[in-house]
Amino acid sequence: MSIAFIALGANLGEPATTLQGALRELDRIPDTRVLQHSRLYRSRAVGPGNQPDYVNAVAQVETSLPPHALLDALLGIEALHGRVRDGQRWGPRTLDLDLLIYADLQISDPRLTLPHPEMTHRNFVLVPLLEIDPELLIPGHGPARQALQSVGSEGLALCQ
Ligand code: AMP
Repeated sequence: MSIAFIALGANLGEPATTLQGALRELDRIPDTRVLQHSRLYRSRAVGPGNQPDYVNAVAQVETSLPPHALLDALLGIEALHGRVRDGQRWGPRTLDLDLLIYADLQISDPRLTLPHPEMTHRNFVLVPLLEIDPELLIPGHGPARQALQSVGSEGLALCQ
């Protein structure tokens, strides 16, 4: 069994409801169960245009799936939520799932980069991650807490 962390984000439709549903779906991935998840956070959208705020959370799972199989399962859940891949990076999306960390693996291949390359720059990932595991070390980077100190918490709030 390996421990992995997954970031969830949504900014279309009913994002909080989408995230609650996605957490249940993560728990239904074969050979995988959700051990913990953070509260829901609201963050200002990064990217083009005047997009609605995002709702974000992080889940910690225990899995015996290898990392690429876990990624495939995440992409399957995204597809269930009707995310449209229109080629626009950082465009609006119903549900975005990112594999942040898988055990102590460091991988960079055409399909999967671990740890997720943007995670150390995103307070909407680091804050919920630290809520679950305040002592977390990001493989190849160091303490998640230190990364958050550089990034700051601007634009982020707990969902009511
Ligand atoms: P995006 O739509 O920006 O979230 O990118 C999704 C694509 O990024 C997927 O098709 C994955 O193959 C690729 N990818 C690479 N590394 C990761 C990762 N750690 N977590 C999720 N997707 C990843």
